[in-house]
Amino acid sequence: MSDIEHLRSLIRAIPDFPQEGILFYDIFPVFQDPKAIEMLVSHIVNHINVTIKEKIDVIVGLDARGFLFGPMVALRLNAAFVPSRKKGKLPGKTICAEFKKEYGVDTFEMQVDAIKPGQNVIIVDDLIATGGTAAAAGQLVEKSGGKLLEYIFLIELADLNGRKNLLAPAYSMITY
Ligand code: IMP
Repeated sequence: MSDIEHLRSLIRAIPDFPQEGILFYDIFPVFQDPKAIEMLVSHIVNHINVTIKEKIDVIVGLDARGFLFGPMVALRLNAAFVPSRKKGKLPGKTICAEFKKEYGVDTFEMQVDAIKPGQNVIIVDDLIATGGTAAAAGQLVEKSGGKLLEYIFLIELADLNGRKNLLAPAYSMITY
């Protein structure tokens, strides 16, 4: 079984979560299996090393499941890890960007000096659906003066074509 097939076999589709009619892809079983964690992190690091020439300075992880593997990828690349968090969670001065949720608007924040102008940045998250969340994080990278090279997702819901809303190319490991 390939690494991707193994990861796919661990992801569970849970109906009617967090509300009726939504099929939720649960990635936590991946983190219950140390070999799968290793596969996930190594696959992403290998993808970056093979396809991107520039030295990556910063991995941005999105609240909250992007925090699970973003720091591990950053460590392997000798890069910084920077969180993009929901409003009101980060101390000190922040910049913000809004994004549409199914019902209403949400806000992402990033610490104002976390990314330095000119730094090469990759954004990671567990899943892209409409792309609104990732687009807002991309705006924060750009506001900071960072150079957004790519988005990396474990899962892409392909029918929604969320990548059309993004500010950089996207790589996803598993599509549904
Ligand atoms: P988008 O903004 O519509 O692309 O939604 C993506 C965001 O919602 C990401 O931060 C995901 O963590 C979260 N999300 C949406 N659906 C799922 C799911 O089925 N499993 C896990 N996370 C999800």
